[in-house]
Amino acid sequence: MTSPNTLPRAWDGFDAYLFDIDGTLIECTDATHYFAFCDALKTLSGRELNLDGVVAHGNTDIGILRDALALAEVPDADWRARLPEIRATMGSFVEARKEQLCTTVLPRVQDVLQHLQRRGARLGVATGNLEQIGKLKLKQTGLLQYFDFAGWSDNDEYRTDVFRGAVEQALALCGSHAALCVLGDTPADILAAHANGLPVIAVATGIFSFERLMEEKPELCLHSFEDL
Ligand SMILES: [Mg+2]
Repeated sequence: MTSPNTLPRAWDGFDAYLFDIDGTLIECTDATHYFAFCDALKTLSGRELNLDGVVAHGNTDIGILRDALALAEVPDADWRARLPEIRATMGSFVEARKEQLCTTVLPRVQDVLQHLQRRGARLGVATGNLEQIGKLKLKQTGLLQYFDFAGWSDNDEYRTDVFRGAVEQALALCGSHAALCVLGDTPADILAAHANGLPVIAVATGIFSFERLMEEKPELCLHSFEDL
């Protein structure tokens, strides 16, 4: 099964692309990032907390902390002011364990990035990862070199706002009339792209099925980049 293609131009004809990281570019099979959350939650709440009951996929790192602390009934006022410190701690936690990161590049990702770069497109990431953690993952997989701009979740807890920041950077690089396209693996990516008025290519290489992604009406839906 393939999806209808309602992209406003050819998939490789945009001026700039915003790529989600986890489930779109790479798969991360270790729990280092997860344990960084648990460590941060313990620091912020003074007790052992985990991410049970929290929606992590499609969320942002700051949003995941917010949702876990809300579930544990830790008031906002108790932790918001400590976010800069916690961001740094989470980054250092993963940095110290970067050898344990178990990341693999998803099928045909390198080909897609190289193809788009050859066509002169500017490539960026728009991700729920904190900058330091996302960069470690991209560096380890050799993908960091492809990207000219990035929206991270350091200062934005909602994906729509992360994307908006990345869009501003893309337009600054390519001009205010540049045609942009998002690539992501979650319903949240599709919603955040559409909230910013952008078309989206959804790819079912994360935890969400092709059928689930189709429900959010992406302009194009792929089983993997092999479909391109
Ligand atoms: Mg993802």
